[in-house]
Amino acid sequence: MDHEQFLNEAIRLATGNVLEGGGPYGAVIVRDGEIIASGVNTVEADHDPSAHAELAAIREAGRVLSSSDMSEVTLYASGEPCPMCLAASYQAKIGKIFYACSKTEAMDVLPVEDKVKNFYSDRDKAGEERDVPFIHMNTARRLEPFEAAAARKRVAGQPADGNAGGVPHAVDEG
Ligand SMILES: [Zn+2]
Repeated sequence: MDHEQFLNEAIRLATGNVLEGGGPYGAVIVRDGEIIASGVNTVEADHDPSAHAELAAIREAGRVLSSSDMSEVTLYASGEPCPMCLAASYQAKIGKIFYACSKTEAMDVLPVEDKVKNFYSDRDKAGEERDVPFIHMNTARRLEPFEAAAARKRVAGQPADGNAGGVPHAVDEG
C-alpha cells in the first residue's frame, strides 16, 4: 500500500465512525508497510476529551510494539492532528506523519467550535493571560519526583522511567 492507500484506510475508519455516532476522525499506524494499529475518535461515547483517533492508535501501537518508542512507525491521520496528538507524536518519536484533510478544509465543510484555536499563540503569552491560565508555583517539594527518579537511576544504573535519558521535562510543563 502507498501513502494515499493508508490515508484512505484512515478515512474509511473515520467515515465508519461517523455512521456509528462518533467523530469524523480515524488514524492508522504503519510499520514496514503493514498497519499495526488504528483508532477512531470516541470523545463523545467515552466522555473523554483525549479520545482522539491518533491517541487511540498510538496507545494500541504501544501495546503491539511493547515500547513507547515509535521512531520506526508512520502515522496516517484522516484529519490534521490537533496540538495534543501532535505533541503525543513527538513524545512517541513517531517517524513521520501524513494527514489528509487540513483543519481549514474540515472547518469549511463542518464548522465547529475550535477549542484549541489559541493553543499556539497562547504559548507566547504570560501564563496568567492564556485561555487556560497556566501558573507556575515554586512549591517547596516540586523537585521530589525528579530527585527520586535521579536517585533510582544512580542506584540501578538505568534510565528513569518514562523519560529517555532521565532529563526532566520543564517543571511547569508536566
Ligand atoms: Zn487530536
